[in-house]
Amino acid sequence: MSQAVEQGTLYVISAPSGAGKTSLVAEMLRSDEKLGVSVSHTTRSMREGEQNGVNYHFVSRAVFEAMIGEGDFLEHADVFGNYYGTSQAWVRETLATGQDVILEIDWQGAAQVRRLIPECVSIFIVPPSPEVLRERLVGRGTDAPAVVERRLAEAEEECRHAVEFDFLVVNDDFEAALGDLLAIVRAQRLRMEVQQPRHRALLAGLSGPA
Ligand code: GDP
Ligand code: ADP
Ligand code: 5GP
Repeated sequence: MSQAVEQGTLYVISAPSGAGKTSLVAEMLRSDEKLGVSVSHTTRSMREGEQNGVNYHFVSRAVFEAMIGEGDFLEHADVFGNYYGTSQAWVRETLATGQDVILEIDWQGAAQVRRLIPECVSIFIVPPSPEVLRERLVGRGTDAPAVVERRLAEAEEECRHAVEFDFLVVNDDFEAALGDLLAIVRAQRLRMEVQQPRHRALLAGLSGPA
């Protein structure tokens, strides 16, 4: 009889735009091959350097709305006037193979996922100050000034939802924030409900006869 594969863990990561979540998640993936990231669908236009199917699946509003109608999304939300959504099939199929999955989504999407998958682990990332957030968004050089202003205005709303998350990571020093994120993943893998089925024989041997 084949052993049932353990379900992977779902991590939901949110942050105000420019806090560093995309850069941090990219490094997490490089450090841990058991982690995968969901590639969202979006109706926003592609930034220079982005690739369709890698950063996002870039689609029209008509296609996105048809996908909503088909029930293709685990969650979707309107963020800064564009649609963003997570593929239901990819996430469920990937978790079923035992791989851990990260969603980089906004607070509205995080709230939807928490309701659907209560055992998910949610992490909120903040910059060390509003001034640093502005510097990073401007310094990234990917958004027009009006877009930067809109994202900064929306950052306050996003941060009002920080307390709904399980963990808070401050991205001041990049390596320290990365260490914190990897520590959360490691601690999660040591939880009793994860360890006990793996070490059943060891625990039984150490416990002696009942
Ligand atoms: P960046 O975070 O500044 O790089 O900007 P993006 O344009 O990549 O993302 C815009 C917003 O959409 C962020 O708040 C993301 O967390 C959110 N977002 C991205 N993908 C998804 C998704 O699949 N679902 C939801 N709900 N939000 C998403
Ligand atoms: P997000 O995905 O949250 O919008 P990004 O990962 O695109 O954020 O990061 C925004 C900008 O800030 C990028 O130019 C990135 O290189 C830079 N950045 C991220 N973390 C740090 C950090 N700890 N110190 C300095 N710059 C950072
Ligand atoms: P950007 O346009 O800068 O790539 O992303 C802006 C925001 O959209 C980020 O806060 C990001 O987390 C959010 N976002 C990206 N993909 C999704 C998604 O699939 N669902 C939701 N809800 N938000 C997303």
